[in-house]
Amino acid sequence: LPGLYIVATPIGNLGDISARAAALLARADVIAAEDTRVTAKLLSHLGLRVPMTPYHDHSDERVRAALVERMASEVVVLVSDAGTPLISDPGYKLVRDARAAGRHVTTLPGPCAAIAAITLSGLPSDRFLFAGFLPSKAKARADTIAEFSGLRASLVFYESGPRLFASLAALAQGLGDREAAVAREISKFYEECVTGTLTALAARYADTPPKGEIVIVVGPPGEATAEEADDATLDAALREAMAD
Ligand code: SAM
Repeated sequence: LPGLYIVATPIGNLGDISARAAALLARADVIAAEDTRVTAKLLSHLGLRVPMTPYHDHSDERVRAALVERMASEVVVLVSDAGTPLISDPGYKLVRDARAAGRHVTTLPGPCAAIAAITLSGLPSDRFLFAGFLPSKAKARADTIAEFSGLRASLVFYESGPRLFASLAALAQGLGDREAAVAREISKFYEECVTGTLTALAARYADTPPKGEIVIVVGPPGEATAEEADDATLDAALREAMAD
């Protein structure tokens, strides 16, 4: 059936490509890819040669319109570099326009770092908010964290090694010293999931930014956490944890 197929790809281990995704990629007319060089590696692993075209939500309107046009008669596959398209990745405008044009839109679900991290963390998974990447500027980051502080839900953030410490410290400041987890390199050789309070985790990563890809999961506000702790108490906790 022609249309738009949203296809999740591995976030590390290439074996995580689904049988259905591999079969669909093999018969795609065109793959709209975030970075065609990255997707070329996946295709070569699968022994496939399929035409690709770069796609971003900030791509020219005409690029998007041309893809939507092709969906009328062809199988157009949307992939991102890793994981589920649209999740901190391009695609939502393409899906929006495909729907507006009445195209067939379907998804081949699969790996997503946010979901994988919440399952690894051991933190409450019944309610969570996916918050994407925190802003890198301190003020915007603190404002964003403040928006989430009252939510009775776990929080999931994408992060990078160099920014990890600053984010953990800001989360401890803005949310109180909650339980949290740092999931790194999921499904890869160096996969790890380190759990602890936000201040303990901040202390752990203060001097040595970890390598690789990272998801932070923060537990919901507890009844007896340091939620109401004032800044001085938190500062002291952070300093003490970093001294260890
Ligand atoms: N669309 C992707 C998904 O479904 O997870 C996420 C794309 S986003 C641009 C990339 C971020 O996802 C990384 O900075 C990291 O926070 C997270 N991520 C991707 N792969 C990961 C992995 N194997 N382990 C931990 N985090 C990962």
